[in-house]
Amino acid sequence: MASDLYIIVIGCGRLGSYLANQLSSAGNAVVVVDWNERAFSNLSPEFSGFRIEGDAVESAVLRQAKLDKADLVLATTRKDNVNLMVAQVAKVVFSVPRVLARVFNPKREEIYRRLGVETICPTTVAAEVFLRATAPPSAGVSAGVSPAEALR
Ligand code: AMP
Repeated sequence: MASDLYIIVIGCGRLGSYLANQLSSAGNAVVVVDWNERAFSNLSPEFSGFRIEGDAVESAVLRQAKLDKADLVLATTRKDNVNLMVAQVAKVVFSVPRVLARVFNPKREEIYRRLGVETICPTTVAAEVFLRATAPPSAGVSAGVSPAEALR
């Protein structure tokens, strides 16, 4: 990925702050949005981006974050509904070229995909890692139904 992007991270919890710190230190311009001011304490002292305190489902907050200029939006809260709403607005209203959302419920991934939003589902990622960790060393890649399909 290029390192001179304008990236907006929604949610500054464990995942969001980690991504913001990494992407900022890689040279990108990063803005983090969280409605809880205390969440920004997760950012490292070297974080050189901006923090916006506000509810990410409010379009005024997204305008303040300049979503119209964003190359990439990462929706990382623990709430599928919030991530879906922000991702939809980012794609449809602000025409953000790339939007990635954390989605816990694998059944919802299809909705995101139809909107052109890429998803990362911790449930299916964990299922894949568990299966790989428990497979006998000689086992190849399973030809059966993948966790992503089975959990949907
Ligand atoms: P975590 O629960 O550690 O993965 O972090 C999720 C972060 O998302 C928390 O810091 C929450 O305060 C934040 N968050 C949840 N909902 C919203 C929202 N609607 N707008 C802004 N931040 C939110």
